[in-house]
Formats: sequence, C-alpha cells, structure tokens
Amino acid sequence: MKTCKKCGEEITADEKVCPSCGTEVPQGFNAKPWIILAIIILVIMEILLGRGPGAETKSEPTVEVVK
Ligand SMILES: [Zn+2]
Repeated sequence: MKTCKKCGEEITADEKVCPSCGTEVPQGFNAKPWIILAIIILVIMEILLGRGPGAETKSEPTVEVVK
C-alpha cells in the first residue's frame, strides 16, 4: 500500500493514478531501470570476460592438450 505524496490518500498497488487527486504514482518506475541496468552490466561483464558469443571457438581446449 502506498500513499499519495500530494494529498496523502492511500493508493492500492494496482492503481497508477491517485483516485483522490489524480496525481500519477511513480510505481514500477524504480524497479524497471534497475533490472535493465543489471542486464546491461551483466552483458558488459560477459564481453569483458570474453565469455561472449565469440568465445565458442575456444570451447574445446581438451582436444588440443591430448598428445
Ligand atoms: Zn492524491
């Protein structure tokens, strides 16, 4: 349960606009950018660590070791 910052009215999680004064509730606004940011960071980490799609050529190191 949230409360409107403008009028203090209680707002349910499903409502995007305050039923009392009509002020938009910034719900989900904080969650989505963090998820997207986390995915972007993971992708960058994968690229930096060389685990990207291009790393498949080095997927069989055991074959080269055998003599
Ligand atoms: Zn309100």
